[in-house]
Amino acid sequence: MSKIHTLESDVVIVGGGPAGTSAAISLLLYTDLKVALVESSNLDNLKVGEHVSASIFDLTDYLGIERENLLNQFSIPSYGSTSYWGSHLPSKNESILNYEGQSYQLDRKKFDLHLIKKVADLGGIVLPRTTCTIFNQDPNNHWTISATHKLEGEMSIRTKYLIDATGRKSSVSRKLGIQSKKIDKLIGVGTFLTSSSENHKNCHQQMIETTELGWWYTSTLPNNTIAATLFTDADIVSKMKLNEPQKWNEALASTKHVIGKLSGMHSKSEKLYIRDASSQINDCSDYSHFIAIGDAAISFDPISSMGIGFAMTSACHAASLVNHQIKNENCHTTSQFQNDLNQHFNSYLNTRKKYYGQEKRWQESSFWSRRI
Ligand SMILES: Cc1cc2nc3c(=O)[nH]c(=O)nc-3n(C[C@H](O)[C@H](O)[C@H](O)COP(=O)(O)OP(=O)(O)OC[C@H]3O[C@@H](n4cnc5c(N)ncnc54)[C@H](O)[C@@H]3O)c2cc1C
Repeated sequence: MSKIHTLESDVVIVGGGPAGTSAAISLLLYTDLKVALVESSNLDNLKVGEHVSASIFDLTDYLGIERENLLNQFSIPSYGSTSYWGSHLPSKNESILNYEGQSYQLDRKKFDLHLIKKVADLGGIVLPRTTCTIFNQDPNNHWTISATHKLEGEMSIRTKYLIDATGRKSSVSRKLGIQSKKIDKLIGVGTFLTSSSENHKNCHQQMIETTELGWWYTSTLPNNTIAATLFTDADIVSKMKLNEPQKWNEALASTKHVIGKLSGMHSKSEKLYIRDASSQINDCSDYSHFIAIGDAAISFDPISSMGIGFAMTSACHAASLVNHQIKNENCHTTSQFQNDLNQHFNSYLNTRKKYYGQEKRWQESSFWSRRI
């Protein structure tokens, strides 16, 4: 019979994206708690979502991530965006938020890996290729987690505090029976393209264009790559088979501007990526010594470019709350954290509604009529 490995840690964070790693770094830098970070992938999976405002520097400074690295190794500057939203005429609207100053396109894979490495450098235990299967909480609110490592086999992890940072799937919350409040079924279907043309190489511009089906987004990434994504609803994707390259290309051909921007470029893969991009919120306040952060707490429509910034901010706030709760058993501040999340989400929903309301050309179409 194979041996079950056991591990003890003050805090266990499930999910090694920007939220999970930021929470881990924050705890390791500013508290004396022991931290374990569990990530199901082998750290080389495809990452999408890359546009951030310059305000990310406040967060990365707080987390001790060198600006030089961020600027020179993991990002390129974005020289603005052209948007055809609500009109066939171009506008320079960046997103539903009016960011001030410069914005950047991250190399997500490098950025996320750098954060994971920082967790390990600070003494955190990083467990990649590990899937948590069972979560049990005892009367003292301590957790025992059963997990499986691809090579090492079964593990049992004991912890005082559990953090769900598993992204939109919010896998831990789901296992605990927490239902998310889902506002829509937005899906991003896209591909990465590349070109050897100098024109494409230096065009650090984003483009947004609406069509009857939804909206298209293209952005230039580091390494001479452009990401092109169609955002539409799950039922529209299945009805029109937009997950098939031929149908997706036909939809692309019906755009007026995005098709021109991508001309002369070729796809890096024959397969399209398909990502949940829905807006949703989870309420974890019924549980003690458990919290969700990043997309597992609230996920935003990518038109907002709020995801990465929120993932990191919510993680830093949660880290302080976790430390407080572990050290001072009688304080109940999770409900305050949840109230703040609810307010943030309601204010986001109002802005989202106003933004989608600006597009009046296809009010009869399934996609747009659901959003006005
Ligand atoms: C198409 C698209 C475009 C986007 N564009 C932008 C953008 O331009 N700007 C922006 O700010 N945001 C954007 N976003 C949103 C952004 O990507 C997310 O908000 C951000 O990645 C959230 O970080 P996170 O750490 O909460 O979750 P994630 O980045 O999803 O990380 C979750 C991690 O948990 C791991 N995991 C999942 N389940 C388990 C499990 N059971 N056990 C262990 N590990 C697990 C995953 O492997 C992953 O590493 C976009 C999203 C989409 C879908």
